[in-house]
Formats: sequence, C-alpha cells, structure tokens
Amino acid sequence: MTMAGIHDAVYAQAADLSAIRRDLHQHPELAFEEHRTANLIAEELRRLGLDVRTGLGRTGVVGILRGDAATATSRTVMVRADIDALPILEDSVQPYRSQAAGKMHACGHDGHIAIGLGVARALVALRADLPGTVVFAFQPAEERASGAEEMIRDGAMRDPRPDAVIGLHLWSPFQVGTVGIKPGPIFASADEFTLIVRGKGGHGAVPQTSVDPVVVAAQIVTALQTLISREISPFHQAVVTVGSIHGGTAFNVIADTVEMLGTVRTYDAADREHILRRIGELAQNVAQSMRATCEFATAIGIPPCVSDPGIATIVYEAAAAIIGEDHILTDCMQTVGDDMAYFLNAVPGCYFLVGAGNTEKGITAPHHSARFDIDEGCLTLGAEILASAAWKILLTQA
Ligand SMILES: [Zn+2]
Ligand SMILES: [Zn+2]
Repeated sequence: MTMAGIHDAVYAQAADLSAIRRDLHQHPELAFEEHRTANLIAEELRRLGLDVRTGLGRTGVVGILRGDAATATSRTVMVRADIDALPILEDSVQPYRSQAAGKMHACGHDGHIAIGLGVARALVALRADLPGTVVFAFQPAEERASGAEEMIRDGAMRDPRPDAVIGLHLWSPFQVGTVGIKPGPIFASADEFTLIVRGKGGHGAVPQTSVDPVVVAAQIVTALQTLISREISPFHQAVVTVGSIHGGTAFNVIADTVEMLGTVRTYDAADREHILRRIGELAQNVAQSMRATCEFATAIGIPPCVSDPGIATIVYEAAAAIIGEDHILTDCMQTVGDDMAYFLNAVPGCYFLVGAGNTEKGITAPHHSARFDIDEGCLTLGAEILASAAWKILLTQA
C-alpha cells in the first residue's frame, strides 16, 4: 500500500526532477562555492515545510521532515546527497550543458540533488503516514573529500541524531534500470603519500663516494608491492601505486634526492591503517639499509565506504521489490573513494550505486569525463528506492 504510494508520489514529479537536474547542470558550482545550489535546495525544502538549516560545512543544507505518524520512540533516518561540481570544461551539445566555463557536473551530483529533493517531495506527500523522521543532508565538496567531515563537525548529525544513513551514487558504467547494492565495502579508502629519499649526490662514474637515491627509490618501489602480496589477507583487496617519481638532472650525475608520490586504496579500516603505517616503516628501513634516509608523509585521505549488512539488506529488499533481483548487481565494488564514508562511520548505513548509463542512447562516458551524462530515468528510480528504503528503515524496530 505504502510502497505503491511512494511509486506514484515519485513518478508524479518525473518531469520536475529532470527539470531540476537540468537547471543544476547548467549552473555547476565547485566545492564550497555551492551558493546558488544551496539556496535552491533550501528554498525547495522550506516550500515543502521542512525545518531547514543552512551553512553546515560552509555550504551544506539540512532539512528535517517529521512524519505525522512518528511517536516518541520512532526512528530517524538520514538521506545524504552530495552537491558539488568539478573543474572540467564540458564537451556537450545538449541544451542543458554547463553555462559556467570550466565547471561541470561530471560526476552526477546534479542528479543526486534532484533525487534527494524528489525523495523529500514524495515523503511530504505521504507525511500523514510517515512513521518517523527523515533528515536530508545535502553535502558540499565531496570532490575535495572534505565536505562531509565539515558538515558533521557543524552538527549535521545532531538534533536529531539519525539511527541510520542511506545514500546513492549514480553510476554511468551501469545501465539505467540496474543498481549495485552489497553489504560491507563498496567504495575504497583513498589516501595520498609522499616519500622523499635523501642520498648524497656525486659523479655518475664514481658511485662509491655517493649514496644514490635513485637505486634506493627503485628498491622502495619494489618493496612496497610486497605489502599487498605478503601483509594483506588474500581475501582482501588493496592497491599501492607509486604514480610519480622524480630525481636527478643529468645522465652522469648521481642525484641528491628522489621524490615519490603515490596512492593507497583499501576496503577495510585496519588494512588502511596497516598499509599507511608500513609504507613509512618499509621505506625508511630500506633507505637506512642502503645508507640513505627517507621522509614519509600522508595527505588528507578518506576511509572506505562500508555498508552495514542490516541496512544494506533493507535497501536491497526495497530495490528488489521495485526492479526485481535480476537487476541488482552485488559484485559492484569500486576503487574510487567518497566521503560518504564519514556518515557511514558515524551510524550504520548503506551507500549504493544506481545505473545511469545507456549504451543505446550513447550515454557511456565515464565519471569525471568532459562528455559525462546520465540517462534521466535514473532520477525517478533512485528516488523511489531511497524513499522506499527510508520508509522501511523507519518501520524497523530499534
Ligand atoms: Zn566524482
Ligand atoms: Zn561523485
């Protein structure tokens, strides 16, 4: 009864969701500059009668919807959507292409906003029966991996404290009409590291008077690969990549220093901690054994996105009732990162993928590409799954 009501309430505004997405697509704003975007969201949420808070994490917006069927003991669920665009010059002939040169919604966050607002509209229409509280969190600066932390620090998860959090990422590699849902990790952690090997420069023909940091760096690069093969469970996945290596100036000169930059991806908090710590230890010990020194530093990173099995099951059942199990991919782990991880670390939740590609229509460009686009059929489907899952979570006893 209710689930059919959600379907009708979402599909009644299909044209509006598309129009909202296209408007946002034409007016992309970069991380922490999402002022027009945040205003549009806040105005819509106020129009719907939600309690609205702005300025959380600088440009984040929270809207609180209290169902009329809520009781003193009923639950609260958070629906999270990210809102920022990327510094990319869009390559598109569509009438809704970006009007801001060099800025583009190339990750589908415009669709996430439309979906979040669609969920709010549908649940407001059904407010009389809504058995709890839904908190909508529109998060800035996902692409800089710092908006979620700032929003949470500013109180996005207080008053009320959610019991669970759900969210989705549109996914162009998956066909529209399919979704990816699995318990446990779905997006990887993403960390950046720097290694600076210091030796002692000299003449390339007189190595015995030097300490060659190029040879030391080569040993370190090789040694780092043993962290995955020898120190992480063969049942876990992880990546250590040295993506940049620089040292030396001439063919016959031994350099003083070599600088390396790399990234680490894991799906498990303990693996992440272990690898990051061991990169430093291994590099420093290899360097020391070869008479050099090595400095190790990490830049801001994000933890893996790990879905709670219980909440993931609820989302899976909600999606299965809508599109059938045949259209749900459970082998859907990705090596990209997303700061939804901070919400998922705070309360049990589920992050899942909603197909947005359509090979027949030529919508195949990857995320973060200048030709990225979505099949807008994903908007109604995404909103229906999120709204149904939120409702089911509220019905679950604490
Ligand atoms: Zn992205
Ligand atoms: Zn994204």
